[in-house]
Amino acid sequence: MTNPQIPKTAPAVFFEKANGPITFVVDHPVTQPEDLKPGEVLVRIEATGVCHTDLHSWKGDWPLESKKPLVGGHEGAGRIVAIADGTMTQFKIGDAVGIKWLADSCLNCENCRIGAEATCALAKLHGYTVDGSFQRYAVSFAKHCTPIPDGLPLEVAAPILCAGVTVWKAIKEANCMPGAWCVVSGAGGGLGHLAVQYAAAIGLRVVGIDTGADKKKLLDQYGAEGFIDYMQFESDAMINEIKRVCSGEGPHAAIITSASGSAYNQALDYLRPHGALVAVGLPPDTYIKANVFSTVVKNLRIVGSYVGNRQDAIEALDFAARGKVKPQMVCEPLKNLESVYKRMEEGAIPGRIVLRC
Ligand SMILES: [Zn+2]
Ligand SMILES: [Zn+2]
Repeated sequence: MTNPQIPKTAPAVFFEKANGPITFVVDHPVTQPEDLKPGEVLVRIEATGVCHTDLHSWKGDWPLESKKPLVGGHEGAGRIVAIADGTMTQFKIGDAVGIKWLADSCLNCENCRIGAEATCALAKLHGYTVDGSFQRYAVSFAKHCTPIPDGLPLEVAAPILCAGVTVWKAIKEANCMPGAWCVVSGAGGGLGHLAVQYAAAIGLRVVGIDTGADKKKLLDQYGAEGFIDYMQFESDAMINEIKRVCSGEGPHAAIITSASGSAYNQALDYLRPHGALVAVGLPPDTYIKANVFSTVVKNLRIVGSYVGNRQDAIEALDFAARGKVKPQMVCEPLKNLESVYKRMEEGAIPGRIVLRC
């Protein structure tokens, strides 16, 4: 099945070596429908978010070697323009789909069978081990494409596909009932501002930790009941203040989206008994130092939360389609990617940048 208007070349951004030049071209070869392998689809990407992981993958920060040359990007939203012959799928030409960090997995191993597809040993990753969404036409895998609900603009869907899914998954991992207190550390950041909205949407009582009046105002709008400005407290005083705000007993869950080692260790001190620390943000070379005695007698849970699965992605988009979650974002052209990375390194990006392809 195919759409006749597929060009031979189209715009893309790629790099050949880690930390090397970032090249924008208008004539990157487009995989033609007859060259797709069974299971693959060709997606006309319309919008793609830029995630911190993309910056790490260009810089070669991680131990796992990436494909080279590489087209990065893993928050791609677009429409299917071709489906490989012999592909079993519910998708049709023209369907709006998202392509995510997890591009493909076997769906047959134990990890896949229990819905932990991201930990499949055969997983393929968009913008890392296979080309991603920083291009107008991307090859993806039908079984892992996420259907985008009608009426949700593709540029709004884009940041949900990694940032949104990641924090929604983390909130599910916290396993809290409505009415429970949930602290989000790094609440004004790219992940945190979405975590606050998802938590509020399922009836959790949210307290954001961040700094500055602008962040406080933003989080108030999202329904946060409390705001802790970490610049205004010494560590011990802050722990007491968080406990005080959360009914005097501390929160039931702490979702750590900030890349700060101290945020992790403070959470172990302010969580109430049976509380869950959910690890999302990735400070380099950091250990969570949990005192065994207090972990045991407080029945604490420490949970790592990596990206969500196919179902988590569908749920995360559904909140956005119903207007419960709105990413804070700015749209720019694809060719700006290099400048976006520069601004990211300087920490000068509020919310998410979405590139139009
Ligand atoms: Zn990401
Ligand atoms: Zn698998």
